[in-house]
This record gives sequence, C-alpha cells and structure tokens, in this order.
Amino acid sequence: MPLPITLLRVVRNEQPSVAFPPLGKNLKVLLVWPKFPSSFWGFEGVLTMMQEGAISPPLGLITVAALCPSTWTLRLLDHSFDAINDADLNWADLVMVSAMHAQRTDALAILRRARTLGRTRTFIGGPWASSEPDVVQLEADHVMVGEAEEVFSAIALALENGTAQSRYLVTDKPDLSASPIPRFDLLRMDKYTSMSVQFSRGCPFQCDFCDIITIYGRKVRGKSSAQLITELDRLRELGWHGEVFIVDDNFIGNRKNSLELCKDLAVWGQARGQPFSFYTQASVDLADRAELMQAMVAANFMYVFLGIESPSPEALKGSKKFQNLRKDSLDQVRIIQQNGLWVLAGFIVGFDSDDQTIFERQREFIERAAIAWAMAGMLQAAPTTPLFDRMKAEGRLIEDSEAISNFSAPNFRTVMPLPALLHGLSRLLADLYEPGAYFQRALRSLEVWQPRPGQKPTDTTSMAYNLRLLASSIWTQGVKSGYRRGYWNFLATLLRRYRRSPAKLWMGFSLLLSAHHFLLYSRQVADELERDCAADLEIANAAAVPELISQAGDS
Ligand code: SF4
Repeated sequence: MPLPITLLRVVRNEQPSVAFPPLGKNLKVLLVWPKFPSSFWGFEGVLTMMQEGAISPPLGLITVAALCPSTWTLRLLDHSFDAINDADLNWADLVMVSAMHAQRTDALAILRRARTLGRTRTFIGGPWASSEPDVVQLEADHVMVGEAEEVFSAIALALENGTAQSRYLVTDKPDLSASPIPRFDLLRMDKYTSMSVQFSRGCPFQCDFCDIITIYGRKVRGKSSAQLITELDRLRELGWHGEVFIVDDNFIGNRKNSLELCKDLAVWGQARGQPFSFYTQASVDLADRAELMQAMVAANFMYVFLGIESPSPEALKGSKKFQNLRKDSLDQVRIIQQNGLWVLAGFIVGFDSDDQTIFERQREFIERAAIAWAMAGMLQAAPTTPLFDRMKAEGRLIEDSEAISNFSAPNFRTVMPLPALLHGLSRLLADLYEPGAYFQRALRSLEVWQPRPGQKPTDTTSMAYNLRLLASSIWTQGVKSGYRRGYWNFLATLLRRYRRSPAKLWMGFSLLLSAHHFLLYSRQVADELERDCAADLEIANAAAVPELISQAGDS
C-alpha cells in the first residue's frame, strides 16, 4: 500500500523550487542503465570472447519499472551494449536513470544530453543518487534518495499531475515483502551471462568504510522464500537457464531466513531438474554455520564472495570489521571451500595501521587461501560512511578527489606515504596476476574446493555456442595472447585431472576464460598505479625544492 505523498519526508532542492508541468497519465518512459568503466568484476576481457554484453542486469531499475503505473509505456536501454540515440531520448517524456558510483560519468553525460535536447524530463535514483544527491541534482530534474518500493506510486502520481518535487528524501526503509516481481521481461536476456535477484537488504555488521549499512541500514529486511521463488519461476517462464546472482550484500545477514530459503530452493530446484546455479556474497562467519553451508550447496550455490579485506588484525579492528577477528580467516576460507563453496574475495590496503609489509602479507594470505579471483584494492572513504566522517573531522578528506575506483589514490590523506601505497598495490596486483602465479593458484583453488555430487553447473548453452566460445578462447588466449604457454598448461592439467568432475571442469573453464580479463586488467591497473606513483613523487619533489632552497637560505 503506497504511502500518501504527505507522509514522505520531502526535501526541496536548495535552488529556487521549480514548477514542473504535469506529464499526464500516458507517459513514455526510457529507463537507462549507464555504462560501467572497465572494472575488476566487469569481466570485460571475457566478454570480448562471448556474444553477451554484460555480466548482470540492472535489477534496481527493473524493480522500479514494476512500480510504474500500468498506463506508462516503458523501454529499457542498457548502455553497456545498447546505443542511446537522440531519437530514443526524444521519444521519452521521462528519462529515468539509476546508477552506482562507478557509473557516474556516463550517468551525468546521459542526463546532460537529455536535458540539452530539451524535450524530456529527467529522474535519477539508486545508490549513487542516494549518497551524492547534490551532485546528481545539478543535471537531473528529479532526484530520489532512498528506496522506492513504498513511495514510488505516490511520486508517479505527482509526476502525472504536475506536483512532483525536485528532490525526494525517503528515509523509511521499505518492507521487502511488498517488493514487486522485477520486470525481467524488459531485459534482453541473451545479452547477460547471469540473471539477478535480491533476497534481502542491509547488513548487521558495522565496517566503517561500508555504505551498504548507511544506505540500507543494519537491520536486515528480507523477502519470504516463497516471494523469491516466485521471481525464479518468472525467470523460468521467460526462458532463463543458468546462473543467478543473489545480489544481497550479505546473504547471511539474517541466517535463519537464508537457511529457510536455501532449504526451499533445494526442493524447488530438485523438482525442476536444477534449472539454475547460484552465487552470492557473504561474511566470513558463514564458516561457522555448517547447516547453512550444506543447505546452500543443496540449493546449488556454486561459489561465494567473501569480504576478507585484510590479514592484519589491527586493520580489521580499526575498521570495526570485528566479525573477521573472531577466528583465523584462513581457516574460515578453507572450511567454506571444503564444504562445497568455491571462494572469491575482496581485499583492501590503505588502512591507517598498514605499513609497507602489508602487501606481502596480503599476497601470502591470498596464495595460501588459494583464492584465484582476489580483488586487492584501495581503501576509499565513501560519502555517508563513518570513515568519511572521521577523515573529514581529522582534516584528512580530499574534498575534490576524483577517486572513483578501488585502484585510484584514496580520497583522504593516508598514513603510509602515498607513493609507497600506490607502488605497493601495483606490485601486489602484478604479482597476484602474473600468469604463472594466477594459473597455479587457480589449480590450487580447484584442489581445495570439494563440490558435492549433486552440485552441478546448469547446462545453459548449446553445443554450437560452446564450440564457438572454445574457438574464440583458443584463438584469443591460446594463439594470440602473451600468456599462451600458461593457458595450454592449465587446460591440459584441467582435462587430465577433472574430466570426470563436471563442477570442477566448469569452474576450471571459467578460470581459464577469466584469465583474459584478470591478467590484462591487473597489468593495466598496475601500470596506471605506477604512473600515479611517479606523478606523485614528482609533485613531492617539486614541492621540496623551494623548501630546500629556503632551508639553504636560512642556514
Ligand atoms: S560485512 Fe560487508 S556488507 Fe556488512 S557492513 Fe561489512 S562490508 Fe558492509
């Protein structure tokens, strides 16, 4: 039941308020998902060998689409692979954009272009608009901060009748039991390697660098398992087979609910010949929940992302990541792998307690844990987080920082000298993704992973598709690449050791294909970090010269 608009806490734009004319009941709406720049988890290198154009679809946007009145005509463009022409923008009465922080450059460009054409109204929501509304408001007519479920129908009515505000600040956290089935039918499903669903929002922990808890809260709000299964049924009806990403930032934030879902999913999947395999994100204390891990495996979860962040207890303590301090993270990873879930993980450098030994400690941890897909990135102080507030209070925040990624200089002054931090991360990435190191670690990740017999990758694609992909991989990686020797050695070992283990063979091929992303992307990032390091040293030296001259004068 939507709240009446008067119950929303609405904040007007600081600029003089604008009167927006009514758009009427029969709006034509263009939903736009901006482009991501190349990123560690974007797998762009793999996508160059495939016919798909992106890894996962814009789930938030298609959820908002399901909240739109039935009288509206909706079209969706994913700028990862769809062109956006002036004719598309001119067709629309309203252009609705959703974006994450990483998409901000393209999001602003799209909003600006739509505004310049002068015909269409623009609206933006989503995680980036929620964390930096003042920035997006410069280019958009309407900005929504917060979650849409309980308020969007009132906002839609205001757009129709001409009473819409320039900014909506939605402070209430919606009950997800009222969240509609996303409009999966708007997607070009064949352009994605996996589909996405969401079971819960929020996380009970308090990591000080995390904006999930400042945006979605520490109280976990979830759907019922029946509700999520209805969404999966819808995906099946639309013909989807294959991987499904459960996008929750911490799938086990409410362990009781996730256990119940997994048990129901196992029954549902077995009755339908396991149409989907799943992956998700979880905190490392998953290792303490044997029943939950077994239920996830029975439900056909294949792998899980863990936020390990650092082998340094001081860094974990300083960032309030207490859940990672309770036990040895290396043991926790091994328990999860041995219980049937292949592990990928995120790591961070740049904490105040980090010294120059941290890079080797991170590398050693990742190697010992056999985490083939390990993202080691830079700490950033995201707006709204306690870390951001602390850096501001300590006068260390770099307000005009252009930091937009996990691989740029932090947006705050670090304790470790910046050149040392940039160089250290560059070396860490270069070492982790040196072809020999990567392929050896990939093989060890398969050795330590113990999938259960019932666990199987879903048969998603035709033989013709697989042969085309293999041919493309052989040509791109096995013939033309600079790491072809490692490619052939890995492939030969994979076929020799695991030809009778469908799960390991499938994961092994994913590791083989993904080499073309991780090896090239990491090298590019490592080179950029070295360039930033050299530039920073140059600035430091230039600043030091007048100081030296003045010191010489003093003496
Ligand atoms: S466990 Fe993950 S989602 Fe939860 S607060 Fe920490 S970083 Fe954020």
